[in-house]
Amino acid sequence: MRIRIRALGAAKEVGRSAILIEDDKRAILLDCGVKIVHTPEGESKHITPEGLEEVAPKLDAVILSHAHLDHTGYAPALYRMGYKGKLYATPPTKDVVRILREDMLKIDKGKLRTRAEMDIAMNMFEVYPYEEEFEVADGVKVKFYDAGHSLGSAQILIDREGVRILYTGDIKPEPTEYFDGAKRPREKIDIVITESTNGAEEIPEREEVKRELLDAIDDTFSRGGNVLIPAFAYGRSQEVVATLVEKGVKNNIYMDGMSVKINDVFRRYRSAPRISERTLMRFRRPPFDMSGVIDVRKVSQGVSGELVRRYIIARAKNNIIVSTSGMLEGGPILSYLQLASADTRSLLAFSGYQVPGTVGRMVLDGYRTIPLKKPDGNVINVNLNMRVGYYRLSGHAGRKYLIEYIRSLSPSRILYVHGEEESIESLKEELDGEALELNKTIVVERSLA
Ligand SMILES: [Zn+2]
Ligand SMILES: [Zn+2]
Repeated sequence: MRIRIRALGAAKEVGRSAILIEDDKRAILLDCGVKIVHTPEGESKHITPEGLEEVAPKLDAVILSHAHLDHTGYAPALYRMGYKGKLYATPPTKDVVRILREDMLKIDKGKLRTRAEMDIAMNMFEVYPYEEEFEVADGVKVKFYDAGHSLGSAQILIDREGVRILYTGDIKPEPTEYFDGAKRPREKIDIVITESTNGAEEIPEREEVKRELLDAIDDTFSRGGNVLIPAFAYGRSQEVVATLVEKGVKNNIYMDGMSVKINDVFRRYRSAPRISERTLMRFRRPPFDMSGVIDVRKVSQGVSGELVRRYIIARAKNNIIVSTSGMLEGGPILSYLQLASADTRSLLAFSGYQVPGTVGRMVLDGYRTIPLKKPDGNVINVNLNMRVGYYRLSGHAGRKYLIEYIRSLSPSRILYVHGEEESIESLKEELDGEALELNKTIVVERSLA
């Protein structure tokens, strides 16, 4: 049997993951995401996978690794292109997509995905837990394994008549606040299609990053300032709050933005093995439900959110605010930032990678006059006199952990996606393998004798 593998996106880049696996009988798509880039005019734009129109009508199944938009953001559009099958995912992935879709609609105003398409997509989900085998088409068996990257994130194991392909999705083999690290499949793996985000450099150990963040918070409080932490809604916000609670921070921690809706999904799935048993034992309930952590939505009942935000920043001090969006491209964090920007005692603490072209990246690159979008859509320039710090809590495998993990699978072939070229080159030096090129097919031969 000959199996053909082709990347329609995420080839030598991070974003718009979409990988086609086909043979003479069956065609399966792994992920269907968008890449969010920013024009010089400050508009955000979605780049989509290439060649999907031709592929969509012949697909037998689409399998989603996890809910982040670079893996799911374009899946609804498949139905416009003639796809009629299911969207296979874990239960939390479906629930998080349901919440994120409102955001997707807001961002592209129906250009890439209409509300009707989103509704169709939600009805086409078929969900399976980790480590339970299911069949997506005749002769194609699939199993999800915990990827340790975020709630519900899965590695996808495909068994095509004895040929086993493992797609890592986004993966974190090392333990984090919520997860015990990726689970290694029991099966013998023939081909690995792996992410390679942090392939070029060793990221600092998590404990070290956390200590630096805590020191910076102490320092800020000793001056009477507030700490603003921009964080992504799904995963990072919850991790940051867990870190603060774990380290015994006694000050008020405010959570604002879409992350509080994602908290509901974490609550729903809080039993092991989805969330680490360690985390549950340590906290007994999710860290964001501990006293001292305040959901701004709840305290603002009857009062406008803006008024509450003003109170938190202007009337009080020594508060921590964890809010979306993670790269200062929208969300309540912009209100806080505008209120606190002149305060030299306060700290703006980034918790994750900032994509080039975002306002967050401008700040990290040293710009101190920045364009901020107001709730009414107008953009104003703000002078930033706050202190700025970068505390990189990566949700992706550190270089050495990824190398160790792939080695432990001892596959006969390694294919790289979801990483810049230099990351892939650096991994190839250690592990061999090859980068998937955009829309270039790789053929895998395997006699079934
Ligand atoms: Zn992800
Ligand atoms: Zn990703």
